[in-house]
Amino acid sequence: MSGKKVIVIGSGLGGLSAAISLRQSGYEVEIFEKNAQIGGKLNVLKDRGYTFDLGPSILTLPHIFERLFERSGRKMADYISIRPLRPHWRNFFEDGITLDLYPEPEKMAAEARKVGEPPENIERFLKYSAGLYDLTNEGYFEQGLDNWRDFARHYGLWKFFQFDLFRNMHQGVASHLKTPYFRDIFDFFIKYVGSSAQRAPAFMNAMPTIQFRYDLWYVDGGLYNIALGLRRLMDELGIKIHLNAPVSDVRREGSRVSGLVANGTFHAADIIVSNMEVIPAYEQLLREDKTFIASLEKKLEPACSGLILDLGLDCKYPQLAHHNFFFSAHQRGHFHTVFQKRQMPDDPTIYLVAASRSDPGVAPAGCDCLKILPHIPYIDDKHPLTREDYLKFKERILDKLERMGLKDLRKHIVFEHVWTPLDIREQYNSNKGSIYGVVSDRWKNLAFKAPKQSTLYPNLFFVGGSVNPGGGMPMVVLCGQNVARKIVAWDK
Ligand SMILES: Cc1cc2nc3c(=O)[nH]c(=O)nc-3n(C[C@H](O)[C@H](O)[C@H](O)COP(=O)(O)OP(=O)(O)OC[C@H]3O[C@@H](n4cnc5c(N)ncnc54)[C@H](O)[C@@H]3O)c2cc1C
Repeated sequence: MSGKKVIVIGSGLGGLSAAISLRQSGYEVEIFEKNAQIGGKLNVLKDRGYTFDLGPSILTLPHIFERLFERSGRKMADYISIRPLRPHWRNFFEDGITLDLYPEPEKMAAEARKVGEPPENIERFLKYSAGLYDLTNEGYFEQGLDNWRDFARHYGLWKFFQFDLFRNMHQGVASHLKTPYFRDIFDFFIKYVGSSAQRAPAFMNAMPTIQFRYDLWYVDGGLYNIALGLRRLMDELGIKIHLNAPVSDVRREGSRVSGLVANGTFHAADIIVSNMEVIPAYEQLLREDKTFIASLEKKLEPACSGLILDLGLDCKYPQLAHHNFFFSAHQRGHFHTVFQKRQMPDDPTIYLVAASRSDPGVAPAGCDCLKILPHIPYIDDKHPLTREDYLKFKERILDKLERMGLKDLRKHIVFEHVWTPLDIREQYNSNKGSIYGVVSDRWKNLAFKAPKQSTLYPNLFFVGGSVNPGGGMPMVVLCGQNVARKIVAWDK
């Protein structure tokens, strides 16, 4: 048992995972969280009989979460109840075509045949994806590799080239699939990390394997029950959590950090783990100079933001599955507008969750609750949009959904809640309102995020979506486990 004290800034899933993993390694752990509840972007809104997942709504790779319980001799099933969903997603296209995604090959083949995509193309694509996933998983994910040096040491030159390095994600998709429908669908797996398939490296095509091999899961009662399950585990492990405790300062002593200030009081620590994103933490808590921040900004551009629209309806739309995508008629243009021009898209691809489809407890009887999430650019601080601008965009979303089959949607709204990128930034201190941390871009960072150990202070570590391997719930939980391993090795 180490007995040393670690303070974690922030209780997003990465912070919680790091706290639990460090406690399991014998550290005394305390968490300081600025908000009134734990979970960070894993968040919930309950109103008038409707329950909305304000943040994540798709659980993947549950075995990564299971490890947090296993290491304390417990079973996740005793804390969190999960079940696989069918179909995984429903995809709506502007020409009226609807296609479902299933992990069962025969069902997937039937969907492919509907639009003339040879089923063997999908099989070949998924084989290619599985190869990339296995390669990425054994090193980058599981070993917690952080930079080129780590990569070269782990993979060597030969394996390195198996990452399909000379193509972008879309080119990898297009070389296997021939119809625009399936190209759009598999391009849009990039949604898991809020990036563009035209800019992300081809090895991001590993993502469909996460869903097709390990399934797509729902958490009974809503995804916030993950946070509640982890809270129970943390209480049992004796991890102290301070809520409503924004950290305003990280103090230094020579080249090390010595503690932090929350609500005006200093708290000493041997090691600090920041779940506040890397750039905001260096900028606002350590007040590093502009040159250092600019050097980070060059590589760590934010992933996209989103408009989070929660609607309580007085009816059901039976054509919806639990997870739905309403595709842009010009997906390439959508990516270009959001990620390169950084403008609001005229015709966005829209993600819509109707959790009431498989969990009647989240809406009144006979009603749907919808969470709608189009991806939009992160905040441009030089020319910021106002809330009114974002609300105008909301009308474009409702127009598109009404056009694509949700007839009279506006007339059936009895409850509405909207969060803009401005709210997302304020809630979570996320860099420019990003929802997945750092963008995965072939030219800017080859999908590398920030390293887990500070390059300035050896006893300062980072965890979460702005750190390798990046955003998404399972990835930040993995990051928490990896950062704990890194701390234990460094602290020997
Ligand atoms: C709308 C939306 C939909 C998403 N959908 C999915 C999905 O379906 N599936 C999926 O896997 N992922 C999804 N994601 C991404 C996923 O939610 C995130 O990648 C992940 O939850 C982020 O975890 P994190 O560890 O980076 O911390 P965050 O969630 O960013 O939490 C950071 C925490 O630090 C706290 N904090 C910040 N600054 C301070 C400070 N100075 N003092 C104290 N506390 C501080 C914040 O309040 C927050 O609680 C979605 C995200 C959003 C927003």
